Amino acid sequence: RRRALAEERHLPAETLDRHAVVLRANVATAAEARAALTAGAEGVGLLRTELPFLNHPAWPTRAQHAATLVPVLRALAGQVVTARTLDFADDKLPPFLARLRGARIGRGLPLMLAQPDAFADQFRSLLSAGADTDLRIMIPMVADVGELRACRSLLEAAAAEAGVPVPPLGIMVELPEAVAAADELAREASFFSIGSNDLTCQILGLDRRDPTATPAMAAHPAVLGAIARVVDAAHRHGRQVSVCGDAAAHPLVTPLLIGLGCDGLSVGPAALDEVRARIRRLRHDTCASLAAVALTRANPEEVWRLVEAGAGVWR
Ligand code: PEP
Ligand code: MG
Repeated sequence: RRRALAEERHLPAETLDRHAVVLRANVATAAEARAALTAGAEGVGLLRTELPFLNHPAWPTRAQHAATLVPVLRALAGQVVTARTLDFADDKLPPFLARLRGARIGRGLPLMLAQPDAFADQFRSLLSAGADTDLRIMIPMVADVGELRACRSLLEAAAAEAGVPVPPLGIMVELPEAVAAADELAREASFFSIGSNDLTCQILGLDRRDPTATPAMAAHPAVLGAIARVVDAAHRHGRQVSVCGDAAAHPLVTPLLIGLGCDGLSVGPAALDEVRARIRRLRHDTCASLAAVALTRANPEEVWRLVEAGAGVWR
């Protein structure tokens, strides 16, 4: 079966009624980047930059950023790379931030903005290491437009200093505050990527480490409603929306995300073949009607049954 799926790698990620979905990969290492390209990803939709530093004693220096970024970005020359800035959080806390454990920092962006020099060093390193890629910068855990503006000024200063153009600057939508401010954010962000892992937990009041916080829970009507609002806001301002949380690869959720109008999905390299094959067996118009009905259901179980009955779920 795996070999049969791999034979579809050169085929477009589009539905039976010819609706194209941008299919990218979530990676953190050069090996994953190579695996993603081999599996036909249209570049990287989420480069997690904090993972190499989870056991690190201090804010990374430029040399330390370069040591981790250069091998990955070299493997991605010529490709779209959506590089996410350091995303330290309750569930990803390095020793030098450990004193914050228990303070429920929840999100890393305020930490980064409180350390503008450390943040600027990451922007400088990304601009330099990503010079041969189609680089886009993505900010995690954005809550309001003020944070986006603060990030933009640091990025603009780093680009001016390096004498390079400012790359597109987008945000992850993974906090209820960002959903509420989606219209304002869409005016100023170059693109949106929905972090369904955090967004689902935030909306449903679950801890990230809660075993009930599964990718399938993104089918909760409250989460789907938030995604629908985010997609509408983005499209009103001509911005593309992708989904980079694990729900993007879930058989019962992929059809809903496509039906809600998400333009792209970003999944782990190992899931690319299967997600592409699933997209190629769905109809966009069916997904859109299913998504509209799903929004009126009472709980995720009802939505799962609806998708199973309606989309001809392909696993
Ligand atoms: C998410 O929250 O959905 C996401 C993709 O980011 P992470 O899992 O790294 O928090
Ligand atoms: Mg997240």
